Amino acid sequence: MIIKTKQDEIQNYLTDASNYKGYCEAVFIPQNKDELIKALKDANEQKTKVTIAGAGTGLTGARVPDSGIVISTEKLNQIIEINTTEHYVIVEPGVYLSHLLEELKRKNFFYPPDPTEKNCFIGGTVATNASGAKTFKYGATRNFVEELEIILADGDEIYLKRGEVFAEDDNLTLITKSGRNISLKLPYYNLPVTKNASGYFIKPNMDAIDLFIGSEGTLGVFSKIKLKIIPLPKRIISMVCFFNDEIDALNFIDEARRISFQTRNENLKDDLDALALEFFDRNSLKFLAKEFNALPNRNAAVWFEQEADFNNEDKLIEKWFSLILKNKGTEEDVWFAVTEKERMGLEEFRHAISWKVNEYIVNHRLKKLGTDVAVPDSEMFNFYNFLKETMENCQLNYVLYGHLGNSHFHLNMLPQDENEYSLGKEIYRKICLKAIEMKGTVSAEHGIGKLKTQYLIDMFGPEIINQMKEIKKQFDPNYILGVGNIFV
Ligand SMILES: Cc1cc2nc3c(=O)[nH]c(=O)nc-3n(C[C@H](O)[C@H](O)[C@H](O)COP(=O)(O)OP(=O)(O)OC[C@H]3O[C@@H](n4cnc5c(N)ncnc54)[C@H](O)[C@@H]3O)c2cc1C
Repeated sequence: MIIKTKQDEIQNYLTDASNYKGYCEAVFIPQNKDELIKALKDANEQKTKVTIAGAGTGLTGARVPDSGIVISTEKLNQIIEINTTEHYVIVEPGVYLSHLLEELKRKNFFYPPDPTEKNCFIGGTVATNASGAKTFKYGATRNFVEELEIILADGDEIYLKRGEVFAEDDNLTLITKSGRNISLKLPYYNLPVTKNASGYFIKPNMDAIDLFIGSEGTLGVFSKIKLKIIPLPKRIISMVCFFNDEIDALNFIDEARRISFQTRNENLKDDLDALALEFFDRNSLKFLAKEFNALPNRNAAVWFEQEADFNNEDKLIEKWFSLILKNKGTEEDVWFAVTEKERMGLEEFRHAISWKVNEYIVNHRLKKLGTDVAVPDSEMFNFYNFLKETMENCQLNYVLYGHLGNSHFHLNMLPQDENEYSLGKEIYRKICLKAIEMKGTVSAEHGIGKLKTQYLIDMFGPEIINQMKEIKKQFDPNYILGVGNIFV
């Protein structure tokens, strides 16, 4: 076990991509499962708080400790098995998503959940139920997790395979490796119909594995993860189209979404079926203009992708062009990837807006003020109008982009100083309350972490939050794991 105690050696573990800062006494870096178990057991006996660290790309301060120790999963980084016959991989939690994707690509396979940031660990993505652009077609990480090996706070283990352990109505019983029975009375609450990464996933008769996915390091530590994988599509159409009016871009997304759902529901061949539908507003394009010289002077853009094969590719491209023109996209500006390298370039364009916002926040020594709210599709236009009106009235700089195929909005405020940051925080809460009013979620993919606990109370109310805490106590009676995440 590597143990770091010198403050200069542990600085990197005291923050994440949100720029939230914390403190701890030591960082433990287990090199195998036994060392992980020992570190947890010792901490539990001494009632020392433990924060589990993935790669630190999280945007909510979830892996940032407030005290106690950090256990980093960075050396638990083996890809144990890639099985292309039965379409699965088994990995340790510290495997980088980027590394897994490379290894799979070599074998003509891929793993669809695609948080824009690929330098995260698989363990981190399961703990936050990460999702991304391709979630529009494939769903979030949850849909791909088949099995989990979980080490509890006292070092005991739970092994869960999807489809094997279910709640009976609102009663869920789990048996640990040592034979301990953990019996839970599940609270009742309505999860939003949107993508969601806010609080514990709980439903009557639920599969037990789903409780742990998205639990943000509060219930246990994933030590082994089995994921579904799928064959790489033969071709991927990838385009960025531009519009003179943001509403035209939204109309394009709305229509492309409707057609995509129809294609899937009716199992149609050779029709439009987007993998991703990503929106950029006027401010986002301006913000990116310095990085991308060829960016046309337009007021909105949409990046989309679709799987294809050599037989239907041309026909699909024609259909996409018609849809762009029908919605007043500008024909002369369309960016269209022919080669895989060009396709990666377009993906990079989408990535750039996220990392440039983060760079801005770090340079201004502020914390990130980026919404992760999603609303039901039927509310997408209303919510967009609300956001625009709110931001135009407050005079704060901002960029609005996101996974609008899923009606999921990343509105990032760009405050210039602490005063503007405080104003931004007020507006942020107003936005979350509006999303809740529209039956949406306060976090669709980044999780709650330490920065969004108030919004989770706004979403579910204090009684439900207390019931979530009771669930945590059943797995972690000494209350040492991930303290401060999801609820305080
Ligand atoms: C530029 C940028 C773009 C991003 N875009 C997206 C996006 O599109 N979609 C998206 O979902 N996210 C996005 N993110 C956020 C981030 O990449 C994801 O949340 C990612 O899943 C975090 O993984 P990580 O390994 O960095 O986890 P960390 O930040 O290290 O940790 C996150 C949480 O996971 C817990 N954890 C980590 N490993 C384990 C484990 N083995 N067992 C139990 N708990 C564990 C931690 O305790 C913490 O609570 C983005 C981030 C950046 C910087």
